Amino acid sequence: MTVMDFELGEQQRAFRDAVAGFAARHLAERSLARAREPGYPWDVAELMAGQGLLGITVPEADSGQGGSLMDAVLAIEAVAGVCPRSADVLQAGNFAAIRTFAEYANDEQKARYLPGLLAGTALIAVAMSEPEAGSAATELRTAAAPDGDGYRITGSKVFTTHGSDATLFLVYVRFGPGIDGIGSVLVERGTQGFTLGEPMPYMSGEVWRQLYFEDVRVEPGNVLLGPGGFKKQISAFNVERIGNAARALAVGRLAFDIAREHALERKQFGKPLAEFQGLQWKFADAALKLEAAQLLLYRAAVNADKGLPSGQETALAKVACNEAGFFAANEAMQVMGAAGYSEATLVDYCMRRTRGWMIAGGPVEILKTRIAEGVFDRRFPQRDRRPDTK
Ligand SMILES: Cc1cc2nc3c(=O)[nH]c(=O)nc-3n(C[C@H](O)[C@H](O)[C@H](O)COP(=O)(O)OP(=O)(O)OC[C@H]3O[C@@H](n4cnc5c(N)ncnc54)[C@H](O)[C@@H]3O)c2cc1C
Repeated sequence: MTVMDFELGEQQRAFRDAVAGFAARHLAERSLARAREPGYPWDVAELMAGQGLLGITVPEADSGQGGSLMDAVLAIEAVAGVCPRSADVLQAGNFAAIRTFAEYANDEQKARYLPGLLAGTALIAVAMSEPEAGSAATELRTAAAPDGDGYRITGSKVFTTHGSDATLFLVYVRFGPGIDGIGSVLVERGTQGFTLGEPMPYMSGEVWRQLYFEDVRVEPGNVLLGPGGFKKQISAFNVERIGNAARALAVGRLAFDIAREHALERKQFGKPLAEFQGLQWKFADAALKLEAAQLLLYRAAVNADKGLPSGQETALAKVACNEAGFFAANEAMQVMGAAGYSEATLVDYCMRRTRGWMIAGGPVEILKTRIAEGVFDRRFPQRDRRPDTK
């Protein structure tokens, strides 16, 4: 009989500890300042590239590290627990649009774009959400009309993280009606007809930009997935969700650890805050949620190995990590009183970041519907009828 093992293997522990050591040496000192800076930390990206921390799951044949999804999760947790903002670089370099790209790009596309992305000198953003298509992503309208051997793109995207800094955009487009009409194209920054709106701040301090496509010519070599590509894109997007979940958990735990130290040192009514049961139970509840969510996250990652994680296990992990991370960060702030609400530590930042991840990458409500579909073993279409999307 196989025994279940809840410990990391020796190599995994060594890898995690090595990344944590790197983060402590190179990222800890500026973690507070970096959290207040809206721009993409390009210096961190190049540093991480030098450490082999970008493209962890990209095959060695494509100049990646050939590691597993679990390796990438261990790395992003180790960095997020020291410098949350730097963990965004690991997200961009391992879990987000780069993973969809690495999964489906042809050799020519990989040769053109992977070297810069893996060196930390280029950045790919995902442009899926539209003004009229958020949770209902399949209602997107940005159209790809045939133009000779290529296409012309017309439409608009919202909420694109790294919109100000990305050099390449993975744009979800509609080649024809229905879900089967959706695919994706690669659009470089600076392409004629492609413009960006004003930077808009998120609550986290990051900025997003609206993207405008006016008759933008896309060469055939820049189609990533043609019509019928949507399901493949969403399968790969589950990796993005795992990165989102891992950061939520690690950032919630960082706030928890800061509050724990504070509760041991700060005295009121003649004794440390940690002596009050009303606060002890906050830590107990947070520990319970964080540890339970950790198991779901590792299960989804380990079962994916070098492939893509299952939709159901990803949904369970993301909801659990999002809720646990935000709960822990929010309670950490309460435990610390005004010190937590001020910007003197990372706790306010942890609270704001974990809040955003409950919406980004598939809001918890949408993922709970996905989980319920697994429970009842049937689909729960949210529309009364198919949209007449052209
Ligand atoms: C920090 C952050 C970063 C993001 N980065 C990107 C990015 O890089 N690229 C990109 O394309 N998009 C990005 N997004 C956008 C994100 O994908 C959308 O916010 C998300 O898909 C939800 O869409 P919406 O905001 O339009 O909300 P809506 O779809 O309008 O939903 C509003 C609320 O209603 C709930 N809801 C909707 N439908 C249902 C239903 N059927 N049942 C129950 N509840 C429902 C939702 O869960 C949500 O709570 C980002 C968002 C955030 C917050």
